[in-house]
Amino acid sequence: METIFTKILKGEIPSIFLHKDELCFSILDINPVNKGHLLIITTEAYPTLESCPEAVLSHMMVLAKKADKVLREKLGCDATNVIINNGKESGQEVPHLHLHIIPRYKGDGKTLHLVKETYSDGEIADYGKKLEF
Ligand code: AMP
Repeated sequence: METIFTKILKGEIPSIFLHKDELCFSILDINPVNKGHLLIITTEAYPTLESCPEAVLSHMMVLAKKADKVLREKLGCDATNVIINNGKESGQEVPHLHLHIIPRYKGDGKTLHLVKETYSDGEIADYGKKLEF
C-alpha cells in the first residue's frame, strides 16, 4: 500500500530524516505540536498495530527511548508524549503505523484533552473480566 510516508521514504516527497534502518525510519512532523515533534514510522506500511509484527513494534519502542533522550538532551524538554493514533476513529490521519514523540515543556499549554467517563457501581469489575489478556 502506498501512503504519504512510503512516498517520503522513496524520496518522492521531501522530508527531514532523523533515522533510517531496515525496520523503521524517523522524520520531523511537518505540523509539530511543539518544534522537534518527530515520527517513528514502520518501513512496511502496516496500517495499525494489529498487522505489525512484534519484532517491529519492539524496535519502535527502542527507537522511541532513543528519540526521547535526544529531545531531552538537545531541546531541553521536560517530558515527551509518546502516542499512537491506532485507527481512523482514534484520529489517525495516515493509515501507516507511526509513533509520535512530542517534546513537552512545563506550562506549554499543549494539553491532550480527552474527556473522561466514570464507571457505575460494579461496572469496572465487569470490564476487568471481559478484557483480561
Ligand atoms: P496521525 O494523525 O497519527 O496519522 O498523524 C499523522 C501525522 O503526519 C500528522 O501529525 C501530520 O502533521 C504528519 N504529516 C503529514 N504529512 C507529512 C509530511 N509530508 N511530512 C511530515 N509529517 C507529515
